[in-house]
Amino acid sequence: MIAAECVGCGACVAACPNGSAMLFTAAKVSQYALLPQGHPERKQRVTNMVNRMDDEGFGSCSNEYECAVACPKGIDVINIARLNREIIKASLGK
Ligand code: SF4
Repeated sequence: MIAAECVGCGACVAACPNGSAMLFTAAKVSQYALLPQGHPERKQRVTNMVNRMDDEGFGSCSNEYECAVACPKGIDVINIARLNREIIKASLGK
């Protein structure tokens, strides 16, 4: 549950050459996706968070991994893979 340790500092966004907020968003999505308490609003949550990230103009992830290097809490990029799975499942209604 290290994803829950994200403090929202934004260091990952600042370090990313694309200004991507994927690691931060992935940490928050993972934190709730992995808990039974997070399941009731799981699809809506990931959809809303990704839409908001896009609306705010954050860049896309191009696997630079600078975010994980900069993160003071050691949030791993594996959470970005989970975020991608979650948004695909939500878009498919699963
Ligand atoms: S750098 Fe780490 S702790 Fe800070 S917002 Fe990004 S994922 Fe969260």
